[in-house]
Amino acid sequence: MTTHRESVDLVVVGLGAMGAAVAYHARLQGLAVVGLDRHSPPHQFGSTQAETRITRLAVGEGPQYLPFVRRSHELWRELEATTGADLLFETGGLIVTEQEPVEGQRWEDFVTATQRVAAEAQVDFHLPAPHEVTRLCPMLRGFEDKRVGYEPSAGLVMAERAVRIQLEQAAAAGADIRTDETVLKVSPTVNGVDVVSDKCSYSADRVVLAAGPWLHELLPQPQASLLSVTRQVVYWFEVDNLATTSTDAMPFVMWVGDTDEQYVGIFPTPPGGTPGLKILGEQFLEDTDPHSVDRSVSTDEIERFYEQLVKPKFDGVHPRCVKTAVCLYTNTPDDHFIIDHALDSDRITMMSPCSGHGFKHSAALGEAVAQQITTGTSTLDLSPFKLERLAAR
Ligand SMILES: Cc1cc2nc3c(=O)[nH]c(=O)nc-3n(C[C@H](O)[C@H](O)[C@H](O)COP(=O)(O)OP(=O)(O)OC[C@H]3O[C@@H](n4cnc5c(N)ncnc54)[C@H](O)[C@@H]3O)c2cc1C
Repeated sequence: MTTHRESVDLVVVGLGAMGAAVAYHARLQGLAVVGLDRHSPPHQFGSTQAETRITRLAVGEGPQYLPFVRRSHELWRELEATTGADLLFETGGLIVTEQEPVEGQRWEDFVTATQRVAAEAQVDFHLPAPHEVTRLCPMLRGFEDKRVGYEPSAGLVMAERAVRIQLEQAAAAGADIRTDETVLKVSPTVNGVDVVSDKCSYSADRVVLAAGPWLHELLPQPQASLLSVTRQVVYWFEVDNLATTSTDAMPFVMWVGDTDEQYVGIFPTPPGGTPGLKILGEQFLEDTDPHSVDRSVSTDEIERFYEQLVKPKFDGVHPRCVKTAVCLYTNTPDDHFIIDHALDSDRITMMSPCSGHGFKHSAALGEAVAQQITTGTSTLDLSPFKLERLAAR
């Protein structure tokens, strides 16, 4: 129930990966910030669960991303120094693709795309000989006729922990972080923006919409229909020897198959992580939404995934699944981020940096969006993520 009206510089709607970073940096940059979330982040209902995320400097998705992941690494290292928490593990990362580009694949020939970005930015990304691949990841099998690339500086970031710490640090610096409060409506006014939640209403100078897979609900058409949401499943399988799959012992592996649905990502286990090997697939065939998505994972689904995608590719992984998680991708038509004004107002910024590759950039994106709000410009270039590119499609 709306009770009273409060005036603030900035309201951040949604405090997941993106909103937590914006709230933290905007507060550090001196704004009076209210951060609102319908749940209590980090939580299990959006896009930022399941402990860890892959991070790579050689971002095959495109050179426009590299400054963001590089800066995010710096920011996470700074947060580690301030808080004593471990956020970043430099495990190295292997990418496996088919020898020839596969027609219609989401990220066509990902090793070549990654090599191009790496070469331009002088990041070490090389094609290791098969014996080196086996030394790096003894459990990998059937890769000998594939193209394999390796980035030593790649690794994992602790996603949920990073969200929690940024929110704690934002609150400690004076941001007003309010959880279990759902924003119902955001409307531009002559001098600012009105935000109405189920508990309060706010007059804000600026608003950032970082509602992840719920974002379309706060947008008008045609912007809302640019976003689609897909259900993704993460599995933790029992392994022969947990010590061999820790962040000290192995790199992550991204195995890009013939189709999007053949993709498999394996994540080494960080200290204190779920005792099992985290493995995920991807699917873009069926859309869903965060209210109606099936958050259970059936025995059939686990068995099928194991038989088709795990057993043929990895030795020493057992069919028993110790844990599963359902996580949501928010997809854009070209798989690239959207960060731009929304609701016809330059006081409202929408951030949809998802499509399965957003986390690694989140800290720097939060900083850049906060800079744009406080100074009108940002150190890193956000222009590649503007909506206008989609109008031409
Ligand atoms: C399975 C999986 C694996 C991934 N792997 C990687 C990876 O390896 N590397 C990588 O870089 N990226 C990866 N990603 C992508 C990355 O995790 C996402 O890009 C990122 O987490 C998106 O964060 P977000 O802040 O946009 O969304 P969320 O974290 O979902 O945050 C949105 C928040 O908004 C809140 N909210 C929604 N509506 C409202 C409302 N009306 N009022 C108030 N609050 C609201 C929600 O409660 C939520 O907390 C992966 C994603 C998934 C799902």
